Amino acid sequence: MFIKINFYTEKNKMSNVSQKSSSQKALTYLLIIVCVIAMNIYSNRKYLINSFNITPQEEITLQDSRVKTFLEPETYNKLVKVLSGYSIDSLLMKEDISESLVIASSRALKSVFDPRDLKAGSRVTISYDWRDRKKFLGYEIDLGYDQSVVVKRDKTDNFIANIVEKEYFTKVFNGQGVIDNTLYQSGIESGISPNVIMNLMQLYSFDVDFQRDIVSGTEFEVNYENYLDDRGEIIKHGNILSAVLKIDGTRYPIYRFTTDDGKSDYYNEEGKSARKALLKTPVNGAYISSGFGMRIHPISSYTAFHRGIDFAVRQGTPIYASGDGVISAAVVSNTGYGIHIRIRHPNGYETLYGHMVSHAKGMKVGVKVTQGQIIGYVGSTGNSTGPHLHYETRYNGKFVNPSSIKIPPGRTLEGKELDRFKIEMEKVKLHF
Ligand SMILES: [Zn+2]
Repeated sequence: MFIKINFYTEKNKMSNVSQKSSSQKALTYLLIIVCVIAMNIYSNRKYLINSFNITPQEEITLQDSRVKTFLEPETYNKLVKVLSGYSIDSLLMKEDISESLVIASSRALKSVFDPRDLKAGSRVTISYDWRDRKKFLGYEIDLGYDQSVVVKRDKTDNFIANIVEKEYFTKVFNGQGVIDNTLYQSGIESGISPNVIMNLMQLYSFDVDFQRDIVSGTEFEVNYENYLDDRGEIIKHGNILSAVLKIDGTRYPIYRFTTDDGKSDYYNEEGKSARKALLKTPVNGAYISSGFGMRIHPISSYTAFHRGIDFAVRQGTPIYASGDGVISAAVVSNTGYGIHIRIRHPNGYETLYGHMVSHAKGMKVGVKVTQGQIIGYVGSTGNSTGPHLHYETRYNGKFVNPSSIKIPPGRTLEGKELDRFKIEMEKVKLHF
C-alpha cells in the first residue's frame, strides 16, 4: 500500500509560532489539537480510500498516447507489448528507430538490465519528442508492479538507464452473483478474475464439496484486493479479504485475519478457523494396537499391508465422524470390515470406520454428518480378533496414513485477538 503522510511541515511551522507569546501559545495548542484531530480523520479517511474502497468490478483502459511514465512529461508516448520472439532491439527497429540509436540505447540498458530477461507480454513505453514525433527520446520497460527500467536520451544525445521503483496501491474490489452453473462459470460472468475464483474455491474446499453441494441459486460474494499501478491499471491480484457462500439458506462466511504471530488465515464470524482438519483419533481413550503399514495379519498370519490404524478400546465406545461430510456407505456385514461406515469429506478425502458393534441411530447413505458427531460404536464384527476401531483414510481414492495427513489444525480466536478480528471484520463487511 502506498501512503504518504505529510504533517511534519505543518507541525514545524506551528512550533515556531509558539515561541512568540503566551496567548499565541494557547492558540497554538488549540491549533495543534485541531490538527491532531484532523490528522486522525484524515488518516482514517485515507485508510478507507486505500484499503476499503469497494467499487464494482471495473474495466480500466489505457490511453495509447501521453501515458504517464517516468520519462519527460513533454513527450509523446507509445505503449507497446513485447510479442513472443521479439527482443527490445527488434521491437525498436520495428518502430522505425534508427539502428545507431537502438544500439546506443541498448548499450545503456545492458548496464542495469539483461535484455534476455525481457518477457513476452511486457509493456514498453516508447517516448518521442512532443513536437517532433520522429525524435526518439527513450523508453520504459515495466518489470512487474513495483519496478521499471527507464532508458533516457539526454541533451548530449547519450542514453542513460535506471531502475525505478514504481508507485502502486491496493484497492478492494467486490464481486457478487448467483450461481446458475458452477461457481467458476458464474464468477467469470460476474467479472471476477479466474485466479480469484480458483483461490476462493480453494478456501472453501473444506466446507463445500463443489461437485455436489453447490446448487443452482447459490449466492456468492467476495471482497478481494488488487494492486494498481499509478495509471490505475490492475497489475496483480492480492488476497481475498472476505467472502460468503449462501447454500440452501446456510451462510458460509470467511474473513482473512492476521494473528499476533503474523500468520494469516480465514475465520468465520465467531473467530473460528475455516480450515478444518480431520480428527486423528475418532475415539476417546484408545491406544493404537496396529499402525499403518506392513504387519502380520492376526487371523490369516499372512504378511499384509495394513491400510489403516487400529484403535484398541472397549466395546461400545462411541466413534466420532472425523470431519464434516456425507455418509457414502453404511454397511451391516459379518465379513471384512464387519459393520462399518464410510464418510465422504469435501476436498477428496474419505474415511472408513470398521468392526462396529452397531451404527448410531439414523446413519444411512446420504446423511450429512458434522465433525465429532457419533456415527457408531466400537465392536469386533467382521474380520476382527477383539474390540477395536479400524480407521482408514483415503485421499482421491488412495489409502493414506491417517496420522500423516498434514492439514494444519484450525484455531479459534480469543480475547484481544478476537476483539481485533471483530473490528477488522467490519471493514470488509459482506452484503449477503
Ligand atoms: Zn485394522
